[in-house]
Amino acid sequence: MSEADCLFCKIVAREIPAEIVYETDRTLAFRDVNPQAPTHVLVVPREHHRDAAALAAADQGLADEVLKTAHAVASQEGVAESGYRLVFNTGPEAGQTVFHVHGHVIGGRDLKWPPG
Ligand code: 5GP
Ligand code: ZN
Repeated sequence: MSEADCLFCKIVAREIPAEIVYETDRTLAFRDVNPQAPTHVLVVPREHHRDAAALAAADQGLADEVLKTAHAVASQEGVAESGYRLVFNTGPEAGQTVFHVHGHVIGGRDLKWPPG
């Protein structure tokens, strides 16, 4: 399942370049082009789902694999122990701008709470 005009489907298909840092059969992780912290990696399912709600309703195990990939990225980036944030902006009011579900793995600096 992919969408012709979806930016992240194009990254998954290697039609648009990205710095890929980790991949599994069903997921891909690549650096955010506009990083907000020393570690800022986006984790996506290869299959197109528009947001976290659609991912939650997807096939058995897909959301689980996205979560496991996010933690594997954090470990690989060396922030699993110091701490990191996993963010799924869901919908326009939350600031979602790319409608192919992605988890932001953010770490490597002190992160403020609450977020803006
Ligand atoms: P959202 O606002 O939807 O939660 O996050 C979208 C993220 O995608 C933003 O952090 C933005 O910097 C990132 N982004 C947008 N276009 C590209 C791109 O072409 N390549 C990469 N690697 N990241 C992108
Ligand atoms: Zn897509």
